[in-house]
Amino acid sequence: MTISALDLFKIGIGPSSSHTVGPMRAACGFARHLRDAGLLQAVRRVQVRLYGSLAATGIGHGTDRAVVAGLMGIEPDQADPDAMAQAVDGVQLDGRLPLAGGRELAFDWHQDLKLLPVNLPWHPNALRLAAHGGGGVGDVLYENTYYSVGGGFIVDEAQAAAGQTGTADLPLELPYASGEQLLALCRQHGLSVAELVLRNERAWRPEADTRAALLAIWQVMKACVARGLRHEGVLPGGLEVVRRAPAMHARLNARDSRPNLITQTFSAMDWVNLYALAVNEENAAGGRVVTAPTNGAAGIIPAVLHYFMDFQRGAHDGDVVDFLLAATAIGVLIKTNASISGAEVGCQGEVGAACAMAAAGLTQVLGGTPEQVENAAEIGLEHNLGLTCDPVGGLVQVPCIERNAMAAIKAINAAQLALSGDGTHMISLDAAILTLRETGRDMLDKYKETSRGGLAVAYTEC
Ligand code: SF4
Repeated sequence: MTISALDLFKIGIGPSSSHTVGPMRAACGFARHLRDAGLLQAVRRVQVRLYGSLAATGIGHGTDRAVVAGLMGIEPDQADPDAMAQAVDGVQLDGRLPLAGGRELAFDWHQDLKLLPVNLPWHPNALRLAAHGGGGVGDVLYENTYYSVGGGFIVDEAQAAAGQTGTADLPLELPYASGEQLLALCRQHGLSVAELVLRNERAWRPEADTRAALLAIWQVMKACVARGLRHEGVLPGGLEVVRRAPAMHARLNARDSRPNLITQTFSAMDWVNLYALAVNEENAAGGRVVTAPTNGAAGIIPAVLHYFMDFQRGAHDGDVVDFLLAATAIGVLIKTNASISGAEVGCQGEVGAACAMAAAGLTQVLGGTPEQVENAAEIGLEHNLGLTCDPVGGLVQVPCIERNAMAAIKAINAAQLALSGDGTHMISLDAAILTLRETGRDMLDKYKETSRGGLAVAYTEC
């Protein structure tokens, strides 16, 4: 499997990469297939079945609405969140679905979209889409099953059976399958972690294009923070969670004009918290975010990078690129050797991965050696091991929003600890990733994005 930086950092919409972005991409691909195969005019009915974790927490994560948007031909990276919401509301009200943006079909939201709380064989996040030529369920023109395997990545039934992961298999200049191999290659070629990843990205596109694309990703991250600082009110979904970022921003601006020792000391934490809350509140509201590497954990990397760019004297665009490239190296290792899916390994795979990636990125731009980058990533991951996924009400709000702020601070501390040493340490990043995988395997399903355990249950029982 080869994974590009632009596979990990994808522009999408909230609130979830696995439950919103992935299913939307699957539905879009399904509609595109119908059009390309010349079947659109023959379709009379489309049926959607959501399985496993998509059934358990799909409504809270907007999976049903995302799939309908995808069937209309709306791609997550192109979607205007407000226009999309309006279009989906229209389908719900009128019972008419413009398949692939064209021919309208009758669509009964309750009959044609079902939640089935059973797991399909390859992954807990599964959906089955079927296009019928008759009004009933016979006469299947085309059907396929899709698995949303985390971070917006999808595979269909045939790809899943073949062990594929939804990414192209390209020959890389400096391939690595473990942290140990990554470090050995850096030493052998005299490269930083960011430089090595940049070389590998040449398999997809020229270097200049990679730099430009990563800077474009950074613009979307910054725009997300800016919107989160502006948007006030209560988040959708029924938990009545009030957005905190705008008021906190006003408080910080006022307070920093009259600093004292305590406020100066805590100032870094306050700003990092602010940026993380802003992103994750936007994500929870279905806004435009960048998967980093998932939507649920989308605030950690932008918060740390935003803090660095705002407060580090002389920080420049090259730092943004290096930060995201070093973070990519770690995200690739975690996705390849364990998982970044909360439904597969719990929140340790989402927030833990993002924390490790942010720690690596920050260490890179603060001048860390490859060994220190690896050490920072290991610290960031190690202290998230065992973290369960237990979103209250199936919404990506509690504990997710605050959890991003906590992990962003943890990532900075991980970088600090790594930079205070020479990169030698007891537990390797590879061992931490293996532990993530094994811990995820042992974790009960109720702690894997099903909202059947942990805080999700504690809240309803109180
Ligand atoms: S608890 Fe973690 S993994 Fe689960 S939805 Fe929230 S951020 Fe994602």
